[in-house]
Amino acid sequence: MKKGIQTAICCPCGNEKILALGLCATCYTLKRQDAEYFGGLREHVLERDGYACRVCGDPDPGVHHREPGKSLLHLMIALCAGCHAKVHRTKVVLTEFPPLLLVLWREQHPEGHEQTYIDFNVRKPPAGTRVCKDSLDLARRSYRPGKFNRQH
Ligand SMILES: [Zn+2]
Ligand SMILES: [Zn+2]
Ligand SMILES: [Zn+2]
Repeated sequence: MKKGIQTAICCPCGNEKILALGLCATCYTLKRQDAEYFGGLREHVLERDGYACRVCGDPDPGVHHREPGKSLLHLMIALCAGCHAKVHRTKVVLTEFPPLLLVLWREQHPEGHEQTYIDFNVRKPPAGTRVCKDSLDLARRSYRPGKFNRQH
């Protein structure tokens, strides 16, 4: 939500259709939801977390309940839509989650399966590339300066 932009006829978000309390339908609903679902602490959580997703730093986060229905500051965390979806919707962890995301995910899916991400694109160096010791010795020997017996 953008702050600081406020005109007489617009909602702080810029919407010109005011529903109630000088807010548009969306913002009014958000405010009602804040009271209803976040105990009025939504803004506190966002402020505490610096208005950024705690996992990836996205600057437009929402608020996630670490324990459903419990609107306590320490049980709420700012998450962007993408990370929030991963926490709730991912059934099996296939990619490497950042540690915090993994913790949050585990909270929501105590029985969930965790799978190590296997990168099939990483190839071992092809066999036969190891340096042949014999050829190295040979090369070194041929570069050894020879001793000359100068004859006068
Ligand atoms: Zn609005
Ligand atoms: Zn995020
Ligand atoms: Zn959530």
